[in-house]
Amino acid sequence: MTLSFHLNRVAATAVLSLLAFGAFMSDAALAAAPQQRNQAPGFYRLILGDFEITALSDGTADFPMDKILIGAKPGEVEAAFGQAFLKLPVETSVNTFLINTRTKLVLVDAGAGDLFGPTLGHTVENLRAAGYRPEEVDAVLITHFHGDHIGGLEHEGKLVFPNATVYVNEKDRSYWLNESNEANAPDDAKPSFKMARLALSPALGAGKVKPFSGDTVIFPGIKAIEAPGHTAGHTIYQIESEGQKLLLWGDLMHAAAVQFPDPEVAVQWDSDPKQAVATREKILADAAKNGYWIAGAHLPFPAFGHIRADGKGYVYVPINYTMNRPPKN
Ligand SMILES: [Zn+2]
Repeated sequence: MTLSFHLNRVAATAVLSLLAFGAFMSDAALAAAPQQRNQAPGFYRLILGDFEITALSDGTADFPMDKILIGAKPGEVEAAFGQAFLKLPVETSVNTFLINTRTKLVLVDAGAGDLFGPTLGHTVENLRAAGYRPEEVDAVLITHFHGDHIGGLEHEGKLVFPNATVYVNEKDRSYWLNESNEANAPDDAKPSFKMARLALSPALGAGKVKPFSGDTVIFPGIKAIEAPGHTAGHTIYQIESEGQKLLLWGDLMHAAAVQFPDPEVAVQWDSDPKQAVATREKILADAAKNGYWIAGAHLPFPAFGHIRADGKGYVYVPINYTMNRPPKN
């Protein structure tokens, strides 16, 4: 009896000390460093000849890929994302690119601005993190007139890049800013017209919009090349310095995991899906054959890479990360 009572007391004490130890441990857990959960600022440099190219993250957004991809074989989309360890809807990058040619500071696309919620619209924040100010930007080159590429031109009715000339393809300008096109557009396309008007209005008011037609040299080493299909005036930009070349693809593709292996898959957002496929096939073939750098607005950030042919499709090879910083000069 006594012994068992004693043992019970020993057990009880052990339990109490374990409880006390547990309390101590949970205090210790509370005292540990809290998780931070944020990411590094979204910029990444690529030195291209004498040019400095900085990829800027505008953010990421869930794209309902199972709904927007068209022309795929049954099960193809799910299988491709499965192989890439991605789940639907697929979190997708929105990227812009800042080119310092030493004489000009040129931004390709402006990101979404305020148009698509808080996960997008971070171009200016990341441009500042990358060491630049919006006032320093001399030119913004637009790939096409969709909200996630032009929304960032405007904030509360004012120019975000007050000293920049905005270069746009005349076909997109005349289509998206035309009131009768807007009136005749299907309901689901109307918001895009509204966004285009809103985004471009301060630049138009200030006389800062400069339309171009066809393939056009914008600055030495920076050339606009028409790549129609996603929109009629969809434009890609060829950047060349000291024999090195980078092609900024805009929306040549939206879903790397699907459209590299099968470039015939289009997106509902293409104004002419058939033409978009033909354009994509032509540009992918050229990039694989010639081995230059490519980058896209919706490839995973920082989106620089190369491609190589693989059967009927292509394999995307993302840039190998570097911390080497060429000296400032
Ligand atoms: Zn886009």
